[in-house]
Amino acid sequence: MPEFDELFRALDTDRANVVWKWKLLEELKQAGLRADDPRVERALAVDVGTPFEAGQPEWLDREQFAGVMQEPVVGRALQGQLAMPADEFSAFTSGVARIYDELQDERSGAVAQYIPTLRNADPERFGIAVCTGDGQVFQVGDAEAGFSVQSTSKPFSYAMALEQFGAGEVHRWVGQEQSGGTFNDPRLSLDAAGRPQNPMINAGAIATLALVEPDQDVSERFAKVEQTWTRMMGAAPGFDHRTFLAERDTGHGNRGLANLMAAQEMLNVDPKDRDAPQKAAEFYFAVCSLEVDAKRLAAAGATLANGGASPYTGEQVFSPQTTARALAVMGHSGMYNDSGQFAAQVGLPAKSGVSGNVLMVVPDRRLAVVTFSPRLDAAGNSVRGVEVCKRLSAEFNLHPYAELGPARHAFAGVTRAGAGSPGHHNVAAPATSSVTRAGGLQL
Ligand code: GLU
Repeated sequence: MPEFDELFRALDTDRANVVWKWKLLEELKQAGLRADDPRVERALAVDVGTPFEAGQPEWLDREQFAGVMQEPVVGRALQGQLAMPADEFSAFTSGVARIYDELQDERSGAVAQYIPTLRNADPERFGIAVCTGDGQVFQVGDAEAGFSVQSTSKPFSYAMALEQFGAGEVHRWVGQEQSGGTFNDPRLSLDAAGRPQNPMINAGAIATLALVEPDQDVSERFAKVEQTWTRMMGAAPGFDHRTFLAERDTGHGNRGLANLMAAQEMLNVDPKDRDAPQKAAEFYFAVCSLEVDAKRLAAAGATLANGGASPYTGEQVFSPQTTARALAVMGHSGMYNDSGQFAAQVGLPAKSGVSGNVLMVVPDRRLAVVTFSPRLDAAGNSVRGVEVCKRLSAEFNLHPYAELGPARHAFAGVTRAGAGSPGHHNVAAPATSSVTRAGGLQL
């Protein structure tokens, strides 16, 4: 296996016929795989060589190194075959780190006021996390500070409903157009078919959650939601009890929406249970109160960037079709009443929550970026979060329509990866492209 010999030689810098463990970890870090990544931990759990002296770093001989390479993601990382090659990953994440620094003094906006947990949030918090479809991770600032996921749960709840019932049934209950109203508009506005406008507004989110394991007991339904988040993130979400209690006490508007939808028979609940709409609203409050952090939420986003497969386990949590729909609705309605403007300027699917999180997916690069900073703008989006998205999109040319030009008019012959008919070029994510796509797309 020549690649193996080449790799071993490249890492055996002392020519001692061993690879230092620290050196291997350094190499993996460059590629975006952290030492606490369970796959890296598992790979390095091999019995490593005895230190020469106490306190000396440990080493791997050829055989042990071969064992480490058996872990697929480690092997691919060392061979430069991850979702993002190490040099691109480092170019992109250096940009993220710089933007993080540049936005430290951005203090405009105000934290959400409607419940104490959000009102009392530390407005200075700021963290960014990046996760690729292969689980390459970069984080800066408060990327492990917990927050309630709030409305960023909505595309995932929608995906869960789609997985269970399919688009035909789900869209009997909820539409798929921009609403034009605020996300929390307590007046129920239904489309021509009598449905809430889309799954990103509160009424639509309550309606889609009513399609998640509807025949089960509510605790089992909630467990299903928690398990789905765990499968995406490779770690369980927490639960913010205070937020849940406050949402439940103050959520009159959401309860009202649930009642009105039930009255119109547009909520999938037992029509003879007079408490059913209340229970539907409470289920929604509980899901909004799931606690995550930027790092874990980025892994959920990377699941979407990966066509529904978890970045850490490769497990297909959602089908590619479900994932495509979740991304599409984020693309047109994910950023409250600034969704249209965001789509025009940034061009990428994103969802924000009033706790100050923004999840943006870059499907073309198979990665997700999550920001957390509690000060919100007038639309309810994190000020710093939106700015991070705008700057990343502009600096790395992530807007899908940013580089259209005469050079790309050759439509015939251009197909998507894997779907090409014979003789067609495949231009999807060329392995050698620079993250900045400095030279444009080469056909
Ligand atoms: N639980 C919040 C509500 O229903 C969600 C707010 C949000 O993040 O948009 O009002």
